[in-house]
Amino acid sequence: MDHTKINLIVRLQYLDNQIESLLSLQKGLPEEIDALEEDIAFIKKQIEAREKIAEDHESTRRKLNEAMESCRSKIKSFKEKQTLARNNKEYDALSKQIEYEEKEIAQAEILLQDIAQNEQKTAEMQEKGRQLIAENRYDEISEEMMPDDVLAEQLKDLSEQVEQKKEELESIIVETSSEVSALRQQIDEQKQIVEKDAKRLLSKYEHLKKGGVQNALVKLHRHACSGCNTRVPTNRHTLIVQGGFYLCESCGRVVVHERLFEEAAEQS
Ligand SMILES: [Zn+2]
Repeated sequence: MDHTKINLIVRLQYLDNQIESLLSLQKGLPEEIDALEEDIAFIKKQIEAREKIAEDHESTRRKLNEAMESCRSKIKSFKEKQTLARNNKEYDALSKQIEYEEKEIAQAEILLQDIAQNEQKTAEMQEKGRQLIAENRYDEISEEMMPDDVLAEQLKDLSEQVEQKKEELESIIVETSSEVSALRQQIDEQKQIVEKDAKRLLSKYEHLKKGGVQNALVKLHRHACSGCNTRVPTNRHTLIVQGGFYLCESCGRVVVHERLFEEAAEQS
């Protein structure tokens, strides 16, 4: 067996482990930031929906008031004309027009009442939410019960939190960036070497990585695969000690002697 091939891929795993441990300094911040940003987007959507409703109400209210104003002025002018009516027919025709405008006003008033009732209901819901918050009964609060000001406060808090975490992450990235990029470069170079000289091992390695196995190559530890703790058959120990590799029958990882990792570390 050609042992140098396995050395090449152990070196690749070693470099991958190095970059993993540098990235672990980010302490899950990228995931936390993603989660916070999801919450922020959700709250923003709620706030926007509420603003949209308020704007719609406002513009409908304005239009209705304008329409009522115009009805009233029409009524006024019809009444003036009535005083000048030359006969009953003319007078009655004007009365009908006045009646029509009055109906229009009455209808607009109903629509305005609907809006007011709607707003009243919203305010009552939010008041209920405020009480539940005061009693710490958060799990009973529905989306619409959340008071506007509490929602705005939540948005502010979450935005501050996410900014803070982004700054923290940014400083970690800056601190580790040169090391990370040097390692990435080394990994690329190592991959090219492995691609040339140990193609089959590389595809095995990448197949495991694709399946979510970060440590595709592991050490033999207490006669077992240290990836899954399954015992390695005794008749394979010699081969591993001699610098060969064993494919774990249980997890499919490549098991090698720990000496190979030590050698890979010395290469830098
Ligand atoms: Zn295993």
